[in-house]
Amino acid sequence: MEGLREPSFRDSVEIMFNRAAALMDMSPGLEEKIRVCNATYTVRFGVRLRGKIQTFTGYRSVHSEHMEPVKGGIRYALNVNQNEVEALAALMTFKCALVETPFGGSKGGLCIDPRLYDEHELEQITRRFAYELIKRDLINPSQNVPAPDMGTGEREMAWIADQYARMNTTDINGRACVTGKPLNGGGIQGRVEATGRGVQYALREFFRHPEDVRIANLSGTLDGKRCVVQGLGNVGYHAAKFLSSEDGAKIIAIIERDGGLYNENGLDVDRVRDWIAAHGGVQGCPEGTYVADGPSLLEAACDILIPAALEGVINLGNAARIKAPLIIEAANGPVTAGADEVLRNKGTVIIPDMYANAGGVTVSYFEWVKNLSHIRFGRIQRRQEEARHELIVNELERLSADRELGWTLSPGFKEKYLRGADELELVRSGLDDTMRAAYQSMREVWHGRDEVTDLRVAAYIVSISRVAASYRAKGL
Ligand code: GLU
Repeated sequence: MEGLREPSFRDSVEIMFNRAAALMDMSPGLEEKIRVCNATYTVRFGVRLRGKIQTFTGYRSVHSEHMEPVKGGIRYALNVNQNEVEALAALMTFKCALVETPFGGSKGGLCIDPRLYDEHELEQITRRFAYELIKRDLINPSQNVPAPDMGTGEREMAWIADQYARMNTTDINGRACVTGKPLNGGGIQGRVEATGRGVQYALREFFRHPEDVRIANLSGTLDGKRCVVQGLGNVGYHAAKFLSSEDGAKIIAIIERDGGLYNENGLDVDRVRDWIAAHGGVQGCPEGTYVADGPSLLEAACDILIPAALEGVINLGNAARIKAPLIIEAANGPVTAGADEVLRNKGTVIIPDMYANAGGVTVSYFEWVKNLSHIRFGRIQRRQEEARHELIVNELERLSADRELGWTLSPGFKEKYLRGADELELVRSGLDDTMRAAYQSMREVWHGRDEVTDLRVAAYIVSISRVAASYRAKGL
């Protein structure tokens, strides 16, 4: 849209916050306190690599400490900067409040292109960055608990946890200083898939409400819905895989760094992922037609658009041409405040980031609780649960053996019913419950107040009121 200035990511978050705050009854002082970012720590440190000292710049920003620890990922990317981590930290505050994980919001970042370094170098860099944050309690199980984000994963989290253990040899809760760790290093089942799984649960919940589906000019279920996914990283890959293999959705386009792939009949997500792993991009992949101008596929006709990569990809430059009636923000901040307005005016329904991608922090919460309780979920009760189920099944079998009743158990029932839930099933159940409850709380505000016309403002209102309630209850 000509003439209009594109707000920065941080401005976008503020504009969205202000839109909600204007509809709330809060003192200006409290509103300001919740809006601002409490502190951002910048660190520059040197690491000797390939015979030379290289200096890196990293950040850890704490947006709100109304609950502690504060929580949020650490990203590795060249364009990381203070404004970005502050915007992301603010989103973490509201995300945690919305899904009721008992954390304040934080975020960290390191200016680095991780592809330029080998594993040993990345370990040296990560340990050094972690050292700087740990010694200032910016990584600590009771104060600040990082997690993976863009460019980081289980491997980096394991190095951070180990670095913390070396510096805090007697802290029995040390493993809870970071989440997203590998399973053998204190992680939890289902954390890697969690954000993508959360996107799936969010969409399932949306489609449970026909009135909401109608507002997006759609009907029916997820079955057969045509989706465009931007970014086949951890979040985009899992969301696309689960939606296509478990809900019957069709992934008609995948957009990556080097272009996009299009196939009206649906792409095989795993084959595309394997191709990218082998060739570094989607070009040449026989699964679909290659489109060199990847972002143009954001404008393709489809039912659901799933931006799962960077912030700001839907902006004033393309918002008016976006055809999807429903957008689910799997990434943080993929729609700028300007684009948000254009899309709202067009009637596009946007399932906002702070809800849509909250699956990651939700399962991080379970991991943190697991670390603090020093026991895997289900370990105590699983077999006892199975034994009690067995009692019932034995009794049913005894009764069904009685010919006069003339009924039998359905095939497979016994095995299914007898199996007590393991950690993965419990994690998925907890995540599903969280995503349903958070949607309900947004929905009540969306449909309950005339001035609230979109899910994003509803989400902000729910989150801000929870943060405000917490400040009011305990004082500042
Ligand atoms: N980096 C993820 C996010 O943006 C996960 C944060 C966490 O698990 O603490 O939500």
